[in-house]
Amino acid sequence: MSDSLLLEQARLLCQNKGVRFTAVREQVFTLLADANGSMGAYDLLTQLQKTDAKAKPPTIYRALDFLLEHGFVHKVESQNAYVLCSHFAEHHKAQLLICDQCGDVQEINSTAISKALINAAKQKHFQIVEPTIEAHGVCENCQKVS
Ligand SMILES: [Zn+2]
Ligand SMILES: [Zn+2]
Repeated sequence: MSDSLLLEQARLLCQNKGVRFTAVREQVFTLLADANGSMGAYDLLTQLQKTDAKAKPPTIYRALDFLLEHGFVHKVESQNAYVLCSHFAEHHKAQLLICDQCGDVQEINSTAISKALINAAKQKHFQIVEPTIEAHGVCENCQKVS
C-alpha cells in the first residue's frame, strides 16, 4: 500500500474514532511509513525538525504516545524504536521479527500465539500488560547476502 493511501486510511480511522490526527501526528506517521524498518524517537525528531524547527522531544513523545495508543505503531523495546503497524486498522497484539543485521522489523499477527502466552501467564497468576513478543534473528534478505 502506498504512503498516501496509508495516510488516508489513518485519517479516516481517526475521524471514525473522533480523535484528532494533528499535523505533527500525521508527520510522525508519514516518517514511519517511509522508513525502512524502525526509527528511534531522536531520528524522528531530527527529521521533524527539518519541517518544524521548533519541534522538541516532548512533541515527538506525545505524537508517539497517540500513535501507540491507537494502534498505528508498535514499540520495539529491544531497539528502543518504533515501527509502523502493517495492519493498524485491527489494533492487534503483535509478534515482531527483528533482523539484527539490517534492523528490519516484520510483524506476525497470530492470535494463537497471543492466546497461548496469556493462558500460560494466567497459570502463573500473572497479568500481562504488554503482550508484544520480540524475536531476534536474520531476515530473508540478509540470509541471501551472507
Ligand atoms: Zn501491527
Ligand atoms: Zn536483515
